[in-house]
Order: sequence, then structure tokens, then C-alpha cells
Amino acid sequence: MAKLFIDDLDVKGKRVLTRVDFNVPLDDNQNVTDDTRLRASLPTIKRIVDGGGKAVLMSHLGRPKGKVVDALRMKPVGDKLAEIMGKPVKTLTDCIGAEVEAAVNAMQPGAVVLLENLRFHPEEEKNDAGFAAALAKLGDVYVNDAFGSSHRAHGSVVGVTEHIAQCACGYLIRNEIEFLDEALREPKRPLVVILGGAKVSSKIGVIERLMDRADAFLIGGGMSYTFVKAQGHNVGGSLLEADYVETAKGLLEKAAAKGITFMLPDDYVVADAFDNGANSKVVAPDGIDDGWQGVDIGPKTIKAFGRVIAGAGTIFWNGPLGVFEMPSFARGTFEVAHLVAEGGAVSVIGGGDSASAIKKAGLADRITHISTGGGASMEYVENGELPGINALTDA
Ligand code: AMP
Repeated sequence: MAKLFIDDLDVKGKRVLTRVDFNVPLDDNQNVTDDTRLRASLPTIKRIVDGGGKAVLMSHLGRPKGKVVDALRMKPVGDKLAEIMGKPVKTLTDCIGAEVEAAVNAMQPGAVVLLENLRFHPEEEKNDAGFAAALAKLGDVYVNDAFGSSHRAHGSVVGVTEHIAQCACGYLIRNEIEFLDEALREPKRPLVVILGGAKVSSKIGVIERLMDRADAFLIGGGMSYTFVKAQGHNVGGSLLEADYVETAKGLLEKAAAKGITFMLPDDYVVADAFDNGANSKVVAPDGIDDGWQGVDIGPKTIKAFGRVIAGAGTIFWNGPLGVFEMPSFARGTFEVAHLVAEGGAVSVIGGGDSASAIKKAGLADRITHISTGGGASMEYVENGELPGINALTDA
């Protein structure tokens, strides 16, 4: 990556304004229930602290929509970080303004401060120049380590970089990019791409991009019914994006012309309601009647996908293969998770729900790389760049 890297910075005595992705899940008692993202940021934070810098951390949390929402304050996140790091972390009650500047300017080398939720200010998501300038007052140098937010041109990711001379990426971003590049640019072959999730419209760019690189696509989840429709079948009440049927047809034709394996499910679990307790049965793709909706891939499909997965050199997976949040319809996603984890391929999970499924199944340590950013990893795969990385200083 031809961008300044944190190791290129002299952080000693400097305020290192650092965008992290601490958008972690909290339970009703404000406990952090999954600290993966905090731990993923540790190498960068430690590098700043150990180098005698002052770590001024900032993140968004949830969707407060430009207002102060007490349940989305950063304090519990800062406390969890302090516990993990074994050192104090001071969490402030705003992210810009005179009081914040005073607190940051009073920091000692090696100290860690966490700013309040960036999205309490509507200007963050609007990439407002004034807001970005106010943030920039808190740093002598800037580091972006928020891979999961780097596909967003927000104030703390893009705008702020216009006001600080040295803007570098952190370890997490470098790590994410290296894995994605290695898996998709120079893959150990065959490269098998597994795609699921709700919408085909959000995956078209990725399919098109990977058509030139992948050896096989395995398609499941809600997005697959638009392909079933494109093959001329009824899909009942299954998820369907009618406006994309022609696009789906085009992708099927393109894959056939290129001789790429493009596998759609051989069978589906269909249910008579979108409910875990609904009646369900297994049918062929041309057997989805009105009154039924596809909610998971069926057993034949799991086997067929399994054969391709077993022969894979590299696997890239994004999107669950059914409604995995409902235990009755989670089997396809979890069985494929096991097949991916237990096969010998280099495995890269593109974040989001497929990452949660892998973790829920206790398989995380058997996967080569699980991205911390679903949207960001997919956008990087699609475009080969991200706004939050482009904005950094050239090396
Ligand atoms: P995405 O954000 O596009 O990766 O979509 C993830 C969502 O797709 C999850 O909440 C799944 O429950 C949902 N999903 C996957 N398969 C289906 C399906 N067959 N019907 C409805 N929703 C699905």
C-alpha cells in the first residue's frame, strides 16, 4: 500500500488522533458482549503508547443519528479497553470543543483518551468541513485504523485528513488489506467465492469483479432467489429483487461463457411463515409454491457445496446462506461454516453476518482471516480501494 504507515511516524510526545472502529455490541446493562474490535486495535494503540505518543482515540457506536443517546455513550467501551490494556483510559463526554481540547492538551505521553461517540454530531456522517477541522485540532498526526468505517467518507475518516499533514494507516488496516489482496489477487487455486445474504443488488459489483478471478461461485441466501427467478421458476414469497432478474440472467450467461462454476442451490428449505416455528419442508428450486418462502439451503446443496469447498485452495465468503438468526433455518450456514473451517483452504471471511456465524459456531480460530468490516471488505473487493485509505498521506 503506497500510503504512510504508522511505523513511518515519529509519535514521541505527539497527540496521535486515531480513528478506531469501536462499534461493538453492548447488552442492556451496557456490557461489551464482543470485544474483537477492541483487541483488533491493540497493536496500533500499543505502538502509540509504547512510542511515547498520546493516543487520542475516536469512534462511532451504533446509530444515534446525530443526537446524544445515553445508551450509546463510549464510556463502557473505554472501560472495557482499560480492562484489556491494564491501564487507565479516560473517556470524554464530547468529541470536539474547548473542554475536549483542554483534556487532550493535558495528556501525558503514553496516555490514552477516548472521545465521545462521533455520531452524536450529525456533521460526522456529512463529512462537514468545520466538524472535521474541529476534530483535527486534537491531533498533531493522524492514524486511521478503522477498517470497518473506511468505505465511508465521514468527517473522522476523510475530512480530518485535509487538516493534518501526516495521515497514516494503522496495523489493522494494513493487515486487512494484505489478507484481502493475497486471497483475491494471488489466490491459491481454485478460488471459491461463497456469497449469501439478503440482497443480490449489493453483491453484483463483487460478482462482476470476481468473475475474472474466481474459479467457482457458490450462491445461497436471500440473494439466490433472484437467480432462481431468472431461470424461470416461481419463488413464492421468497426474497426477490424483481428489478435485478435481468442482471441475474446476465451474470449466469457471463459465468457460462467464461466456463466458471456458478452453483445455485439444488434444494431449499421453505417455510410457510418468516418464523422459527413455521412449518417447513425441503423442495427443489422449481418447487417453491405460493404461500412458501425460501429460508435456507437444503441438504443436497450443502453436500454439493461441500464437494467444491473440499477442493478449494482459497475460499472467500460473505453473507449467510439462510435466515441463520432463526435456529430452524441456520443449518445451511453453520454446516458450510464447518466445511470451510475444517477444509484445508486459505479462508477469508468478509465480515458481517458470516463472521458472526463463524464466531457463533466457535470456529473463528480455524479461519485464516475474518475481516472486521463487512461493508468495507466488500467495497474493497469490488473497487480495489476505499475512501478512508485514499485520503491518507502518500508514502
Ligand atoms: P446481508 O447483510 O446482505 O449479508 O444479509 C444478511 C441477512 O440476510 C441476514 O439477516 C439473513 O437472515 C438474511 N437472509 C439470508 N438468507 C435469507 C433468506 N433466504 N430469506 C430471508 N433472509 C435471508
